[in-house]
Amino acid sequence: MSAQTNLQKDVLVLNLEAQLMEIAGELYGKELSLLSDSELYYVVLLLTKRLMKVSDGNEGEKKVYYISAEFLIGKLLSNNLLNLGVYDKMNAILEKYGKSLSVLEEAEPEPSLGNGGLGRLAACFLDSIASLGLPGDGIGLNYHFGLFKQVFKDRLQTAEKNDWIEEHSWLTKTDVSFDVYFGKKKVTSRLYDIDVAGYDSGVNKLHLFDIESVDESIVEEGITFDKEEITKNLTLFLYPDDSDEAGNLLRIYQQYFMVSNAAQLILRELREKKYDLRKMYEHAVVQINDTHPTMIIPELIRILVEEKAFTMDEAIEVVSKTCAYTNHTILAEALEKWPLKYLEKVVPQLIPYIKELDKRVAAKYKDPKVQIIDKDNRVHMAHIDIHYGFSVNGVAAIHTDILKETELNAFYQLYPEKFNNKTNGITFRRWLLSCNRELAAFLSSTIGDGYKKDADKLEKLLEFADDEEVLNQIAEIKMNRKKDLAAYVEEKEGITLNPDSIFDIQIKRLHEYKRQQMNALYIIHKYLEIKNGKKPVRPITFIFGAKAAPAYVIAQDIIHLILVLQEIVNNDPDVSPYMTVLMVENYNVTYAEKLIPACDISEQISLASKEASGTGNMKFMLNGAVTLGTSDGANVEIHELVGDDNIYIFGEKSDTVIEHYAKADYVSKDYYKKSKVIKRAVDFIVSKQALKVGHKENLQRLYNELLNKDWFMTLLDLEDYIKVKDQMFADYEDRQMWKKMMLVNIAKAGFFSSDRTIAEYNRDIWKL
Ligand SMILES: *Cc1c(COP(=O)(O)O)cnc(C)c1O
Repeated sequence: MSAQTNLQKDVLVLNLEAQLMEIAGELYGKELSLLSDSELYYVVLLLTKRLMKVSDGNEGEKKVYYISAEFLIGKLLSNNLLNLGVYDKMNAILEKYGKSLSVLEEAEPEPSLGNGGLGRLAACFLDSIASLGLPGDGIGLNYHFGLFKQVFKDRLQTAEKNDWIEEHSWLTKTDVSFDVYFGKKKVTSRLYDIDVAGYDSGVNKLHLFDIESVDESIVEEGITFDKEEITKNLTLFLYPDDSDEAGNLLRIYQQYFMVSNAAQLILRELREKKYDLRKMYEHAVVQINDTHPTMIIPELIRILVEEKAFTMDEAIEVVSKTCAYTNHTILAEALEKWPLKYLEKVVPQLIPYIKELDKRVAAKYKDPKVQIIDKDNRVHMAHIDIHYGFSVNGVAAIHTDILKETELNAFYQLYPEKFNNKTNGITFRRWLLSCNRELAAFLSSTIGDGYKKDADKLEKLLEFADDEEVLNQIAEIKMNRKKDLAAYVEEKEGITLNPDSIFDIQIKRLHEYKRQQMNALYIIHKYLEIKNGKKPVRPITFIFGAKAAPAYVIAQDIIHLILVLQEIVNNDPDVSPYMTVLMVENYNVTYAEKLIPACDISEQISLASKEASGTGNMKFMLNGAVTLGTSDGANVEIHELVGDDNIYIFGEKSDTVIEHYAKADYVSKDYYKKSKVIKRAVDFIVSKQALKVGHKENLQRLYNELLNKDWFMTLLDLEDYIKVKDQMFADYEDRQMWKKMMLVNIAKAGFFSSDRTIAEYNRDIWKL
């Protein structure tokens, strides 16, 4: 941290406008006032990059490397300026030219480097690591088309490539490049960096590796491409379709490419700082985000043995003290198990090491549940992490408990000291200060600015729980966000929303365990009730946003059902004055930042035990929405914090659900037969009315699934869901009570700041 770099930054900040003029001249030979929005965006982008370049880095004797297949970072312009402390100044300059940052933001493409909660968590963590002044970088891949762009056609999801990298972007090409070997096949990597500015703190890096020979032109219709041409396709897409062998191999190629680069980068940094590799763990800690980066363990061991003259024992010991693993799921299908023969094809050089790690486990423990290579010759990636890492953490209290007691109990018996909980969090910079500036300003004027650095200070708001003035202000700000959202949706989707209606929102990846289908069944129920003359006192707007994995058939069918309902409900003159259904297209971080501040009811309705944590639930709460949820993931902790009076909990508890699975005694048809309400709603899916709008194939398949399988027990909780949701709509009319619930939710959200989460990671795991 030299005084000189600080001075450089100060000088830049003092001369922002002159700098903008200079860059505009260099790039376009024009004055600022003559630039288009997108030209001006590039000018501000380049200046912001300069500001970060001359800012101090967060340095220290030990550094965390957060390795993740996904970083769902969202647009960066506003957040970077906010964190650098120049947002208002920049905005004031732009306003002189009739522009503003929110206008320029429209010109910014959203980086497509993640999928859902796991990737968004990684992004929040980078923000908090930098904001707490900790030395720590992210390492991942620079996917050119990332996760697909969702386009609805004929009420079905179609996937298009998401072309987000422009000539000027947040990426900075570096001169770092490594050789990566897949057996004898060599490819050359290239590192691109994105600066991560901490809030009133130093700057860290997100390191994204790419391949020099990538060829965007091999992508054909939609997102199809030749999966075999590794040298051309390696960094094109996140989670390429894995329904065939070539797709599986490609995922392994990507994972190894990521960790081989990560290992070389980490070892290079240790060497540059002249640290003793035998004490690697005193200077580096590798946080493995879910199992995708697991091969970093055998890869580091391999390098230490083959290139650094370590014995196998020494290498295993050093690496095990360096690596820590975060588990994100108990869904069996989501825990990666690669067939050994796939790994042999892609990374033959790792096989002796994986076999050695397996052999040592087998020699010590007989339990088949803890073996690395199972009897079918599949390699359980999480098992490598648990045996050969020093920490295993779940992401919410209930999730960690389930890991210890059920899913990973055999491991917990062996290594109780490795298991720990780190309840997820979100960065308040993006999810409050930036996406709801009016609320943030109001909070500052009411309780002071302290909460921006110490989120627990939000609790001061409780002193105003009976202050009518404050309650009305909070409600008014909510109304303003609902109006903003309505304007945005009108333009994007061509659908009119009524801001006086209740905004009930479920936005998250589409998965049966998250149970968007249950929400859809409620909508059918409500529609039929209104048709029968039972009208709600206030109109309700049901909003969804969700992408489904292209190969996940039932998830596509659920999207289809929701789009069919959107068509039926919104075009039925008997019903449309009382309810509206909207599924927004291509839900992403940008959309989340508009939807969340406008939400009244936050839908968190996963089958208890299945949602590891959720982070959407936290964002909603922070913005004054009231949760309708099951006792699952972080909902449990939200419930504890706000108390029974400020949340609506329904459905079976996780122990009951786990018991149903153990006994295999849940039969959805029994619930269908027992309840007229359930039967009527489910039957509607294949009614003449629905089939007139939708496709028989999709609707019939979904109907059969619900009746004959319903693996995530939708019908188990449906009646309770209807009851509690109706209660919530009724309670909304007690405006005083509702406003107070909003206030309490905001006041109690401090615990869910990712600054708290990262401070705990650092205290218990990283020890930077
Ligand atoms: C926060 C977030 C998620 C995670 O939502 P959950 O409800 O926790 O699953 C997914 N996608 C985006 C764009 C997000 O911002």
